[in-house]
Amino acid sequence: MSNFVQSLTVGEAHVTVINIAYADWNFPAGLDTAASPWWPPYAAQFEQPVWSHHNVVHIALADASILVDAGFDDLPDSPYQLPRFRRNVDLSAALREVGVAPEDITHVVITHPHDDHIGGLTVKQGTSYTPRFPQARVLLSRWDWEGNPDREDPTEVCAWTLNVVDRAGRLNLVDGSQEVAPGVTILPAPGETPGHQIVRVQSEGQTAYVLGDLFHHPVMVEQPWVNRGRDVEQVLASRQRLAEAALAEDALLVAYHIGTLGKLRPTATGFTWEPVRPIESLTLLNQEGEVMV
Ligand SMILES: [Zn+2]
Repeated sequence: MSNFVQSLTVGEAHVTVINIAYADWNFPAGLDTAASPWWPPYAAQFEQPVWSHHNVVHIALADASILVDAGFDDLPDSPYQLPRFRRNVDLSAALREVGVAPEDITHVVITHPHDDHIGGLTVKQGTSYTPRFPQARVLLSRWDWEGNPDREDPTEVCAWTLNVVDRAGRLNLVDGSQEVAPGVTILPAPGETPGHQIVRVQSEGQTAYVLGDLFHHPVMVEQPWVNRGRDVEQVLASRQRLAEAALAEDALLVAYHIGTLGKLRPTATGFTWEPVRPIESLTLLNQEGEVMV
């Protein structure tokens, strides 16, 4: 198994985190940090480039084979690539490492339709695109689809991904909470986009959350109003709701762009992201999150 594919168990669920790519993210520039009173204690950790992960998650539980987000599996010269984008592993190849073929996937949950989360939904065959996961229902929030201007713009990534899935009859719109399969539930967590959603995995008393872009970096756990100009009130409410639930459940957390698995811990002023394991290492964890091998 490659270093970028990490499997763990959550009760009876097998959860695989695939870090398909890194990109250099100019974090301070996106946060208007210059005059912010919260910024000085954090400045030193951003003097070096922040490597943004692209963590695609596969969940196998009973008959369900669920992917959360589809990565950005585009050609390296795409105009949509972030600076210094480096692909670690092709998504289909990574899934094969854990015995999953594209046609085995039953559901793809899209946390939100930004390019880096939807680019891998299709594959190019000749001059056209076809769904990469031909049997999968693709689950996207209704609030991120209806009225989304990207649907009408042929230059947007949506044109060759979500629109293709929609024309194939595989797109299913989600209204609020929805059970994907027994033990796997979509929960609304708006803010990053109007319909941003996360996934909860619960099995045999264990809980994990796949958070999409609820937090882009651990600093946002400690400073939860920080979020690149999105809807701050929605972001705060969504983060608070997740934090309370995750603490109560001692849940394991996977965020799309964060380089560690984490758990939340309370602090005097709020919460902090406690790293459990770095994602890029080849590690097998038991149900307590401890290293098995
Ligand atoms: Zn993202």
